[in-house]
Amino acid sequence: CGIFGISGHPEAAALTHLGLYSLQHRGQESAGIVAVKDGDVKAIRAMGLVSDQFSAERMRTLAGPVALGHTRYSTAGSSTIENAQPALVHFKGGHIALAHNGNLTNALDIRGQLEDDGSIFSSSADSEVIVHRLAKAKAEKPEEKLAEALVGIEGAYSLLVVIGDTLVAARDPLGWRPLVLGRLNGAYVFASETCALDIVGATVEREVKPGEIIAIGPDGSLRSLERGAATKLHRCVFEYVYFARPDSSVFGGSVDRARRALGRRLAQEHPAPGADLVFAVPDSSNSAALGFSEISGLPLELALIRNHYVGRTFIQPTQSGRDAKVKVKYNPVREILDGKKVVMVDDSIVRGTTTKGLVALIRAAGAKEVHMRVSSPPITGPCWYGIDTPDRDQLIAAKHSVEDIARLIGVDSLGYLSLDGMLGAVPGGPEGFCHACFSGQYPTQPPSVGPVRLKR
Ligand code: 5GP
Ligand code: SF4
Ligand code: MG
Repeated sequence: CGIFGISGHPEAAALTHLGLYSLQHRGQESAGIVAVKDGDVKAIRAMGLVSDQFSAERMRTLAGPVALGHTRYSTAGSSTIENAQPALVHFKGGHIALAHNGNLTNALDIRGQLEDDGSIFSSSADSEVIVHRLAKAKAEKPEEKLAEALVGIEGAYSLLVVIGDTLVAARDPLGWRPLVLGRLNGAYVFASETCALDIVGATVEREVKPGEIIAIGPDGSLRSLERGAATKLHRCVFEYVYFARPDSSVFGGSVDRARRALGRRLAQEHPAPGADLVFAVPDSSNSAALGFSEISGLPLELALIRNHYVGRTFIQPTQSGRDAKVKVKYNPVREILDGKKVVMVDDSIVRGTTTKGLVALIRAAGAKEVHMRVSSPPITGPCWYGIDTPDRDQLIAAKHSVEDIARLIGVDSLGYLSLDGMLGAVPGGPEGFCHACFSGQYPTQPPSVGPVRLKR
């Protein structure tokens, strides 16, 4: 998911709308904006894309100097309007709006406790437990309320919350998901990625620190409450590999630089002697393919054209939608591929369905040999912390060796970047990253009892 918030600007909602355009890649199922004016709070939430949902007419209803927004794809909770965020509740003490990126691993336990105490839930999203905890919190200041609400909550969260007219931002102590603080004249801005600060003209101030809670008061004051970072951080390395935009920096490092370094390392670990050219599976592996080209000396060609009007395949919540979309999304350039030995670089293989379809297209366009290089290790397990990788039984590398995968997807050779290679290449590595979906080293218990994934 993508989150964006701003405090202290007369056009807070309009800027949030802009910010969400830049965070669309982080979730395409639903989007929402909440704005606050003099204690009066309004929300717009809708299924679908940011560009489709916020007409000028609807935007006019969102007045005030404080706003927050969210782009969602479901990792816990189904893809429905009830689960669209920001969540907004009214109660005797006022209102709370909340936007969450990440996945809580003990949400069902906490939900059970709250329901035993009489809470009634309106969604199946894990994030709703924080809203209920907040409504019950005894502390005075908004940032202290949030700290109180988060006690005992485990897993990944970057949060933006509006309590009254205070905007509060928080990151979990392990730093799983990114969150950055920026400034726009007198206003404070928070966003999942810096590309969303760029679009509104804000400057990057700093990251919200792991464990930190920052409150922006209606008077423009900033208060920071540090709950202490974990001794070993678990920033999601997949943000660098695939998820974040290359024009962003996350965790204080450039995504473009990270991907190029991954591609260079990949070319060192798995060269492709005798090949004629290299190309990317656009767009997420463009930067990695550049890095591969740089080290291998192979020319980088634009051999695969992506239709930009089709969303990220994996965000389609059903399998049939995914299969049909390969051809809709990509078309090869025969003039480049015909008779050539080619290297195809991609950032990851998840189910293998897209990749298999792509290899078939590349061969049909005349390629003599297809060598695939992947700028991350085999994905062998699901993500429990907020990336929508499917369950283990759908992950091609959970059941098959690299050799088998090569045969199944139909390539002449296949090379994956090693775990050490990946962690050594990303900014700030090799320590302090989560790599559980690649390594199987999960730092927490599995998500709590009951249906872990309520989706579909
Ligand atoms: P596959 O061959 O695994 O179907 O698709 C691989 C390509 O799609 C890669 O380019 C990867 O970036 C993207 N992809 C497909 N499905 C998923 C998914 O479920 N989760 C993530 N994170 N990426 C996916
Ligand atoms: Fe990121 Fe993988 Fe860890 Fe999930 S399991 S947080 S995708 S590195
Ligand atoms: Mg891709």
